[in-house]
Amino acid sequence: MPQYHIWTIGCQMNKAESERLGSYLEQLGYQATATAEEADLIVVNSCVVRQSAENRVVNKLNALSPLKKLRPNLTLAVTGCLVNSEVAQLKGRFPHVDYFFKPGDCPPWLEKAQWGQVLPRRPAPSTYVSIIQGCDNFCSYCIVPYRRGRNRSRRVKEIICEVKELVNRGTREVALLGQNVDSYGHDLPDQPDLADLLGELNGIDGLLRIRFLTNHPKDMSPKLIEAVACLDKVCEQLSLPVQSGSNEILEAMRRGYTVEQYRQLITEIRSKIPEVALSTDVIVGFPSETEQHFQQTIDLLSGLRFDTIHVAAYSPRPGTIAARKFDDNISPAEKMRRLDQIERLQEGIAAEINAQLQDKVVEVLAEGKKKGKWQGRTRSGKLVFFSNSNNCLGKLMNIRIEKTSPWSLQGRVES
Ligand code: SF4
Repeated sequence: MPQYHIWTIGCQMNKAESERLGSYLEQLGYQATATAEEADLIVVNSCVVRQSAENRVVNKLNALSPLKKLRPNLTLAVTGCLVNSEVAQLKGRFPHVDYFFKPGDCPPWLEKAQWGQVLPRRPAPSTYVSIIQGCDNFCSYCIVPYRRGRNRSRRVKEIICEVKELVNRGTREVALLGQNVDSYGHDLPDQPDLADLLGELNGIDGLLRIRFLTNHPKDMSPKLIEAVACLDKVCEQLSLPVQSGSNEILEAMRRGYTVEQYRQLITEIRSKIPEVALSTDVIVGFPSETEQHFQQTIDLLSGLRFDTIHVAAYSPRPGTIAARKFDDNISPAEKMRRLDQIERLQEGIAAEINAQLQDKVVEVLAEGKKKGKWQGRTRSGKLVFFSNSNNCLGKLMNIRIEKTSPWSLQGRVES
């Protein structure tokens, strides 16, 4: 039986696409292997959103070169955001790679007709479903629109069919994915929006929960907030990347909103969905970010108190507007200092927010086992560990929280 190995780095979109490719390969008779050395087919699913990710991809591809020399029959393919329109250039740089194909595309050696219908045979209780590819926003620092292209939404009918089939096969929760899910449907003939899609999915029997990410603050509509507030299966969890607490920096980033508009949006969300858990993304060390700009970000984060923050140090991506227009003039050490400061701030905030769940009973979807304990998430997306000798996989469990930390919760099954 031929063996395949997929190496994945980057966002949930990449993870979802790798899962899909793995399922398809298994339907064709391949078997997964954890070691590249044993594989007949290796796929590298790449990310170049940050320089550190791109470096890891390049190192991985270079490390695979001797293996390809040793076993010329090995097939080596690359997908993900490294693959741009300059495939000839990539071939010159990595001559040992057999195929390059764009993220989300059917691999060139597989049957295109079947690709659209590929689903995992035994999907996880919580499964990613991609609903829109690409992005039309062109934030000045971001490479995504250049690599993944413009918005391309999948049709509502197609997504409903896919989710129904996933539920038949064992999925209980879906996380709808897109670089900007708030743009969903604008490019389709009858222009449904994300709220319409959520309404349709909410009616699927056997589906227990729906999440979606990532949102864009300038595109999040009152209708969508209303849908989250009203639809019983849509979880009270929203990701809303702010990126900076300074209007000057937001403008240079071309984010399309001000700090005041962002604060107003959060106020509106919290008033309509009181239980909501909010996460955000922040970039530190954007060109010309002064200490004062950075302090504005700290003030915003301290005031809004998010459940989770993903913080990254700016790194210029060749081809983006920011890389062309601005000097990367904040030193790496200063970027790290700012990043650490936000992480320490957030650790304290998350500890306090999670401590409020001490002794409370929360509903957890059991997603799997780790080190002998069941793990799963609350509706608000908090990671919970608990012990139980029964098979809890895919079940909703009532868990009384006994211990909390900034990152996860521990509890016992409430009888
Ligand atoms: S919204 Fe901005 S940051 Fe997000 S993918 Fe689109 S261009 Fe990139």
